[in-house]
Amino acid sequence: DSKRRLIIVSNRLPVGIKRMAEGQYDFSPSSGGLVTGLSGLAKGGVEFLWYGWPGIEVPQEDMSHLKEELLHKHNAVPVLLDQKTADHYYDGYSNSTIWPLFHYQLDKVLFNEDTSAAYRKANQAFADAIAPSLGHGDHVWVHDYHLMLLPLLLRQQAWKMNISVHLGWFLHTPFPETDFFTILPSKTEILDGILGADVVGFQTDEARRHFLSTCSQVLGRSSIDAKILCSGRQVVVGTYPIGVEPSEFHSRLQKDCVQSAIRAMRDNFRGAKIIVGVDRLDYIKGVPQKLYAFDRFLETHPEWVGVAILVQVAVPSRAHLEAHQELKAEIQKLVGEINGKYGKVNYVPVHFLYSSIDPDELTALYAVADVCFISSIRDGMNLVCSEFVACHDQKAIQSSHESISHGTLILSRFTGAASSLDGSLVVNPWDQEECAEALAHAVSIDADEAHERMRKLGDKVEEQTSAHWGASFLCALERVGKVEVLDM
Ligand code: UDP
Repeated sequence: DSKRRLIIVSNRLPVGIKRMAEGQYDFSPSSGGLVTGLSGLAKGGVEFLWYGWPGIEVPQEDMSHLKEELLHKHNAVPVLLDQKTADHYYDGYSNSTIWPLFHYQLDKVLFNEDTSAAYRKANQAFADAIAPSLGHGDHVWVHDYHLMLLPLLLRQQAWKMNISVHLGWFLHTPFPETDFFTILPSKTEILDGILGADVVGFQTDEARRHFLSTCSQVLGRSSIDAKILCSGRQVVVGTYPIGVEPSEFHSRLQKDCVQSAIRAMRDNFRGAKIIVGVDRLDYIKGVPQKLYAFDRFLETHPEWVGVAILVQVAVPSRAHLEAHQELKAEIQKLVGEINGKYGKVNYVPVHFLYSSIDPDELTALYAVADVCFISSIRDGMNLVCSEFVACHDQKAIQSSHESISHGTLILSRFTGAASSLDGSLVVNPWDQEECAEALAHAVSIDADEAHERMRKLGDKVEEQTSAHWGASFLCALERVGKVEVLDM
């Protein structure tokens, strides 16, 4: 019992792997809520192992060297997939069927027998990779929509080995209403797959409610107190909202390079009201809706023409998918139209960056911005808004020599964050008029109102951290067997 073992399973490993010349590999640890949320556990003496797809096809001759390096340096084990399976499982079923469906984008949903078969095959490959190291008492935490069949496959494996394991599954995206979910031909298989877990977690109460009612309507499995009875087992269905580590932003704000980046941006945009948007280039982020709203704002509030600017960072993501290309073209056209319509020789209303941006520069950008505008048409949680708050709260102000403006957050009601972050201006991104008014309100907000709103937001972001998220899910997973005994 002294050394509890935790197995994390996610589509991708927490390290980026690049093949260099002559069989050499370059490893770059990635960040993100999951990685930061779990890094505290490793320090707390939990032995952990991370399984994931390395994102590249590895030649046979490099395999043992790569595996060794990943295991010893990163506690990571690669799950290998051939390129065709990987493409069909990842770009195909995961990102062209499940992703749009779970975000209610029916016109983007593609069905294809080959991709559905590859999804099954990939989930099985994960189960096969994990099986040999599975041990009695292990805690296994599976992540996201790529791996919905895996909990049941692992449960069956544990039965075969006659061992007991604690299995958890967490969904980072929304879970759609039953009418949407039941469009999936493999709806029953997927629900059964998820219910192989002991603890099933969602970002919001809404997603949890949708899942419970879908299990009841599709499988006839009803729940009591958010627990579903499943062949003698109890599946706990909970809400565990993910967050960020605000302290990371506070320490970054103290760095000289961040302070000088803040000064440089201030100089560059002197006198301007800066509205910031940071999104992966994905149709769920509602970037066109944001641009329509900004256009409407300048049209109805001409006194802000020449003063208000929108800095929109669009991080390339799944760029080879057709949906991405179409969206990029649409956004570039809208940006061009707005800049043509309102621009002057010394005034560019929309600054559009199609690239990723490093954490120090991002922190400086958040800090100089007066307003952050999140316009997602659906979003599991959205962390950008919390990061913006972490760059404007009390501790951010104390951390920075440069003065930090009072930031105002405009947040789409279709983000998971809207249900937990009190203090933002909540909007419907489809309602141009409402968004334009929210922008007008935000750029001219009274200082007292802004401080009060930021105080509420800051308290919440400080409380709902990624470490807290990881710890509460694992606590539920830890309790699994014990709860069952108590309830009997
Ligand atoms: N981000 C990034 N590279 C960038 C700009 C932003 O990795 O160039 C980060 C950002 O700091 C945030 C994450 O990407 O932590 C986006 O998370 P969010 O939950 O808002 O949206 P997701 O992309 O996961 O849908």
